[in-house]
Amino acid sequence: MRSFRSLVVLSVLSMALPVLAEEAPPTSKPTGEAPKPTCEHGVHKALCTRCNPKLSAVYKSKGDWCAEHERAESQCVLCNPKLAEKGVK
Ligand SMILES: [Zn+2]
Ligand SMILES: [Zn+2]
Repeated sequence: MRSFRSLVVLSVLSMALPVLAEEAPPTSKPTGEAPKPTCEHGVHKALCTRCNPKLSAVYKSKGDWCAEHERAESQCVLCNPKLAEKGVK
């Protein structure tokens, strides 16, 4: 019987899954620091205008744009050397 067979497979899977979950190594250890997905530029990845060129329109509309260096003014370490202290590159 086909349905019985798949039922057996399901029950075997549900028994095996918790074991797999326990054996899986932790992917990330808490380091104590705030978990921030920063990009190679030291900016929050989702907010980085260099990783997400499409964001430029958003920053430009807010008046937060450095035309000289083609990135958000608030992310431009060339114009705001203090940003380097925050790890912005
Ligand atoms: Zn970036
Ligand atoms: Zn700049």
